[in-house]
Amino acid sequence: MQVVCLDLEGVLVPEIWIEFSKRTGIPEFSRTTRDEPDYDKLMRFRIDLLAQHGLKLADIQAVIASMSPMEGAKAFLDGLREKFQVIILSDTFYEFADPLMKQLGRPTLFCHKLVIDDAGFVRDYKLRQPDQKRHAVNALKSLNFQVMAAGDSYNDTGMLSAADAGFFIHPPASIVEKFPQFPVNHSYAELRAHFDAASARLLATVKG
Ligand SMILES: [Mg+2]
Repeated sequence: MQVVCLDLEGVLVPEIWIEFSKRTGIPEFSRTTRDEPDYDKLMRFRIDLLAQHGLKLADIQAVIASMSPMEGAKAFLDGLREKFQVIILSDTFYEFADPLMKQLGRPTLFCHKLVIDDAGFVRDYKLRQPDQKRHAVNALKSLNFQVMAAGDSYNDTGMLSAADAGFFIHPPASIVEKFPQFPVNHSYAELRAHFDAASARLLATVKG
């Protein structure tokens, strides 16, 4: 009984805020968890910046609606789901994710919620639970699942540490230096091979 947990942005779909930064021409929106490890600080910064520019949830949703998953992401995910249960653990928001999840065949997604005011502005955000990625992996392990995980950022390292096997996929060099314990992958094929090898290794520990 094995579950694979995957990060969403930077792994299966492009970074939503970076895309939003390009479309609006406002460079400050391109800050991500890769640049700012403190997620709350990053989100407060984004919410203030949206208000400052008079941008609403609908403006962000319009950008997301025109985005697509990364090349090969759907095929990778479909292949993975033939062999494993897959859960997407993301620090995005349900209000953002839907158009992209639809294109990915609606895998299970655990993420967060935004607080929107009557005028349609983002006022706040509600984490379902702080450090949810790590907690989700630990909860799955307590249900007797073996858990494998992959991500690309600081906010994935708790999940990767808690998992029975954790991997990076196309992470920035700065993160690789800080977390050398997680094998680095540069393609879906490479990551799939790592998952398959880890799966066999973990199954052997159960049988033995
Ligand atoms: Mg990511």
